[in-house]
Amino acid sequence: MTRKFDGEKLVIASHNKGKLREIGDLLAPFGVSVVSAGELGLDEPAETEDTFAGNARIKAHYAASETGLPALSDDSGIMVDALDGDPGVYTADWAETGQGRDFAMAMTKVWTQLEERNAPEPRNAAFYATLCLAWPDGHDEIFEGRVPGRVVWPMRGENGFGFDPIFLPDGETQTFGEMDPARKHAMSHRARAFAKLVETCFG
Ligand code: IMP
Repeated sequence: MTRKFDGEKLVIASHNKGKLREIGDLLAPFGVSVVSAGELGLDEPAETEDTFAGNARIKAHYAASETGLPALSDDSGIMVDALDGDPGVYTADWAETGQGRDFAMAMTKVWTQLEERNAPEPRNAAFYATLCLAWPDGHDEIFEGRVPGRVVWPMRGENGFGFDPIFLPDGETQTFGEMDPARKHAMSHRARAFAKLVETCFG
């Protein structure tokens, strides 16, 4: 049986500022007070699963059991068809340098691998987001969203975060990095997963 969210406070189980901003915008209309895992001083648990849902569950259950509050996590990434779905669940890892994350480097790596493989145009890709809402008693609900598009080069735009500057959604002329944030937040993979979450748990 699906469970509704009927509390007042929700922990956002993420330390990623871009995601926190986007999730905060998406939750604003529901009058729920949100607090982030970072503000509560929680650690980031190791993401040891090889699916978005598996890692989303790890993060949400960890935050819920540590705080005693319902917790919402997001596990997301970009899958590039010609790279056999890479970087996928390892999207954040591709940006890891040892001294923080460098997304220009990670985007360059994607492009270089596409060039090395002589991947034909369009270089199809999709952003995926899986949301997990977990309660301290171990119950959870999972929701998935996807936006199809293509990888473009060079990077375009200063908005957004992560891989936004090289992702052109189908039917659009601006990359996620160029798009007005309100527009991205209305059509993103996260927004699509969120619409399902809202319908099921906040409706
Ligand atoms: P994780 O879900 O924290 O493991 O990391 C997901 C990674 O995917 C992020 O660090 C971003 O690099 C990337 N990502 C997820 N959603 C977006 C998005 O909306 N725009 C750009 N990059 C994203």
